[in-house]
Amino acid sequence: MREKPSITKFIPNSKMDKKYQPIIGLETHVELKTASKMFCGCKNNPFHVSKPNFYTCPVCLGLPGALPVANKKAIEWTIKLGLALGCKINTLSKFDRKHYFYPDLPKGYQISQYDMPFCINGKVETSFGPIGITRVHLEEDTGKLIHQKVNGRNVSLIDFNRSGVPLVEVVTEPDIHSAAQAKEYAKKLRQIICYLDISDCDMEKGGMRLEANISLQSHPQGVQNQIGHPKGDSLPNYKVELKNINSFRFLERGIEYEVERQKEILESGKTPIQETRGYNAEKNITFTQRTKEEAADYRYFPDPDLPPIRVTPSWLSEIKKDFPEDFNQRLNRWQREYGVKREFIEQLFETSSEADWFEDLFRKLKSEKLAIGKFINLLIHKKIKTVLFKDSPDKIIIEYKKATVVDDVSDEELIPIINKILKTNPAAVADYKSGKKQVMNFLVGQVLREVKKKIEFKRLKALIISMFS
Ligand SMILES: [Zn+2]
Repeated sequence: MREKPSITKFIPNSKMDKKYQPIIGLETHVELKTASKMFCGCKNNPFHVSKPNFYTCPVCLGLPGALPVANKKAIEWTIKLGLALGCKINTLSKFDRKHYFYPDLPKGYQISQYDMPFCINGKVETSFGPIGITRVHLEEDTGKLIHQKVNGRNVSLIDFNRSGVPLVEVVTEPDIHSAAQAKEYAKKLRQIICYLDISDCDMEKGGMRLEANISLQSHPQGVQNQIGHPKGDSLPNYKVELKNINSFRFLERGIEYEVERQKEILESGKTPIQETRGYNAEKNITFTQRTKEEAADYRYFPDPDLPPIRVTPSWLSEIKKDFPEDFNQRLNRWQREYGVKREFIEQLFETSSEADWFEDLFRKLKSEKLAIGKFINLLIHKKIKTVLFKDSPDKIIIEYKKATVVDDVSDEELIPIINKILKTNPAAVADYKSGKKQVMNFLVGQVLREVKKKIEFKRLKALIISMFS
């Protein structure tokens, strides 16, 4: 199934851009952070357990006769994500068995959703144009294969801690037309999911995995940046699946490489082979993993052990009640109410509960008439020695006051000390005068060491400069 990769060389050629338009669809898998697994009571904690096969039971080991029970929270979170992506929520949904054989799948089938997923027809906006969301469905993750040497022999080991972890799949329409747009979409999707507090989206550990379907549409006359959805009849007659991408950068680079590689093949009058390829980050190339003669037949059928699920209006309104304030709306409101700039705060939190923590803090800072901008600045420069989201806002305010307290030191007291520092450090003074402005940090540091009091950097700097002769 997973054969030895063959590597294809390519020579980049950017002259053909207008002749070929990339047609790209993305599939994103995300592990939900529910307390228990999808169809059993085992703890869902595959990343923080040192022993393999620790959180397992007959259900997630696929033992005969074991019966699955669906995790209600996982279903609610999938619907929540669907709502955040503007999807229609199907009132009737069901789980299906997807059959294929692989050692990390003990039952010989994966419980997934085929023709009745929980959510359909959503949309994500990007700066290049909207991207349609075909579906959001729920399935179970597989176990993990580990290839290593034991007693000098190459062996494959299986860890089932991950087997049965709830896995959401978000599938887009082939509306993406560049590597940059794919990256922007994937980042935005991650932000939406993190903010909903339903997954850690840890890409390094495999908690969020990306796949891209890439092909090129030929336009003999050339087109100018066509945006939107290609017509069904004009879709290319092949597609290349780029699998298991675990970073936004690799996604962008992998697609860029693929587009160039496919252009080369099309330009020579051939059609690229329909296949699955991997991305090698070290060499920055894609390589053949397996070629598909035709679409795999998974023999989908409804799982007889799991009843269909009816999403009633009252259940749906329950789920909606639990919805956080929209991410963008919130950031705009923070700007209005607290004067917090988006570009500073955006990088400091991910989940809605972390946002709630900041909200509480901002309210308190404001009521104590403390400068929020200065606070964020100190936070970014790690001058406030507290743990974000763990320590209470009250504790952080105490630390903030300590960090910003300024001692009352007169200029008369400072001038002789500065004089002494300038005399003992003539090289630093000369450096500063010749343009090496960063030397000021050193001079200020020297003065502060002598004074042993807290003085505002700006004031001290101005005083030192005034004393340069
Ligand atoms: Zn289990």
